[in-house]
Amino acid sequence: MNDDIDQVLIGRDDLDRRVTEVARQIAGDIGVAASGVGAAEITIVPILTGSIIFVSDLIRKLPLPMQIHLVSVSAYPGRSTRSRGARIRSQLTSLPEDLADAHVLVVDDILDTGGTLGIVRDLVLRSRPRSLRTCVLLRKRRPAAMAFPVDYVCFDIPDVFVVGCGLDYNGYYRNLPDIVTLRQEVTAGADA
Ligand code: 5GP
Ligand code: MG
Repeated sequence: MNDDIDQVLIGRDDLDRRVTEVARQIAGDIGVAASGVGAAEITIVPILTGSIIFVSDLIRKLPLPMQIHLVSVSAYPGRSTRSRGARIRSQLTSLPEDLADAHVLVVDDILDTGGTLGIVRDLVLRSRPRSLRTCVLLRKRRPAAMAFPVDYVCFDIPDVFVVGCGLDYNGYYRNLPDIVTLRQEVTAGADA
């Protein structure tokens, strides 16, 4: 698996440091919003599958009472290194119909075209949350991503295909602890 790596873009220590920083910011913002008389709930909405590592790191740094409800979206099926358009996978989605008491934080691995965050945001808004914020580990430096409204971004990266820390190629590499690019030979059969 390590032989397939071309470059390490973000190492595990930098990831940890930055996630700690962003968690502090989120805890401040949502903690304040959700405090006081008739305190509101905090609901974390991780977007499966790519966000699992990031969200588990992030929420353990958020000392707030919270619930978790999953949403599953597929945009890069199989051997894709380009978005094929985001779709909700309803069997794996567990969003309550009513989120009227909740401050919601939607969490994803990477912001690319904005298609995924866009459809999840629309889905969450149907449950009428008290507030809605979005958070991504990575954002690609490309016009669509930079123009897309998002509340918290841990890192801006070049517009290249990356894996690790939850991000996959053809289902693999999610367990790599760093954000890396793959050697060209590895993704040679992609997008065929
Ligand atoms: P968007 O819907 O913003 O175009 O893309 C977001 C989704 O596409 C992410 O949740 C992620 O699953 C996938 N994605 C986008 N860029 C990459 C990338 O560079 N590597 C991997 N592995 N997945 C990506
Ligand atoms: Mg994803």
